[in-house]
Amino acid sequence: SAIRARSAHLFRRGKGVFPAGVTRSTIERDPIPIYVAKGEGAYVWDADGNRLLDLNNNFTTLIHGHGFAPVMEAVEKVLKMGTCFANPTEYEIALGELLVSRLPAMEQVRFVNSGTEAVMFAIKAARAFTRRSAIVRFAGSYHGAYDWAEAGQGGVIVDDASGRNLPKLGYPGAPQSIADNVLVLNFNDVAGIEHSIAPRANDVAAILIDPMPSRAGLLHPAPDFIATVSAVARKYGILVIADEVLNLRQGFAGASARYGLEPDLITVGKIIGGGFPVGAIGGRTDVMAVFGSDDEAPLLSQGGTFSANTVSMVAGKAAMEAMTLEAFDRLERLGDGLRKGLADVVLKRSAPFSVSGAASLFRIHPRRIAPTSFHMATMTSEENDVMRALSRHFLACGILLPFGAAACLSTPMSDADVESIVAAFDDFLEKNSRTDWE
Ligand code: PMP
Repeated sequence: SAIRARSAHLFRRGKGVFPAGVTRSTIERDPIPIYVAKGEGAYVWDADGNRLLDLNNNFTTLIHGHGFAPVMEAVEKVLKMGTCFANPTEYEIALGELLVSRLPAMEQVRFVNSGTEAVMFAIKAARAFTRRSAIVRFAGSYHGAYDWAEAGQGGVIVDDASGRNLPKLGYPGAPQSIADNVLVLNFNDVAGIEHSIAPRANDVAAILIDPMPSRAGLLHPAPDFIATVSAVARKYGILVIADEVLNLRQGFAGASARYGLEPDLITVGKIIGGGFPVGAIGGRTDVMAVFGSDDEAPLLSQGGTFSANTVSMVAGKAAMEAMTLEAFDRLERLGDGLRKGLADVVLKRSAPFSVSGAASLFRIHPRRIAPTSFHMATMTSEENDVMRALSRHFLACGILLPFGAAACLSTPMSDADVESIVAAFDDFLEKNSRTDWE
């Protein structure tokens, strides 16, 4: 198997300056992280010179893989013009126009620097517009690090005194008042929506929903669930915020359009920056007016030193322009082929696995039935070990498969790459008989 001496060395150095040796808690390690030296197209080369097919793509950001020529050219050109100004530029208008023309829910848009910031401002905008404080979200979904978006990501705990379900807060010492203002419901639990929201309806500003929550298990939304979210929101004057930071890559018009959700606000990020830091909040013109309008001062101030910096704007435009309808179709076919290939292998070996996902996204589960709820997707420690073993096997086959997050394809990938993924999975199932963990 591959040598990772240089990664081991770098990890020791990293430990000298970073808590836990790294600058993001989300960095995967088994037991050490794989340090990357460079990326090109569908591949990365680790610090020890091993080539790996990249199914992480910086947590699904790089829809064109690494070093996409149109992005590189656009960035090289803009570097000479200046990277950030306190003044607006034409570059931000161009990317804004592209997004508004494609996303039905986005009549207007504001740029920020990350998905976390986009979700934070969407929540604040919904509050300012409705003059209510509470938000509803679904257990297990990841929405970034804003306190109110983070609460409930780990599910709920039952309060001893009241018997009520309270959101698990993000960290010890998080203000208890956050729990009072976040209602955590279960994804795909149609009956629970009206029942849980009704008693608090006049306090609720927004329902925050990722149409296919990835960390929760890349769960497929049931059509009646999506319809009920919309109907209950409308009934009580609650706004719907679709968090498409990750799932925008599901189609030319995004994931909400794909699943029939009509949000009032939408947050995006990742692919719209072409590999550079970015986030955006968009939505209905009347709601977006909380950020200001021709004749009114903003109810909600939104700044950001690096927001709409020229590099992210031109890189994002180049990346998104290349994502034509045809490019989305091709990725969709590649993803369909991959999910079918993986499912066929599971069937052939009658292995206790399943596959979820859509478009360019997929996730393998150590379960016979693909989960449709956060509860179903929560893994035992044995199942976690199985997934680690699977990632380790993929690594030995030269493939980087995330084990805690959604995996994704990129446009430079070919049918041969898909075949190599399916072959690696088949090989794993052959070598690890199901009786090993059943
Ligand atoms: N929302 C969703 C749905 C996400 O997937 C992510 C990032 N994985 C975020 C928000 C946060 O985005 P960022 O990491 O850019 O802050």
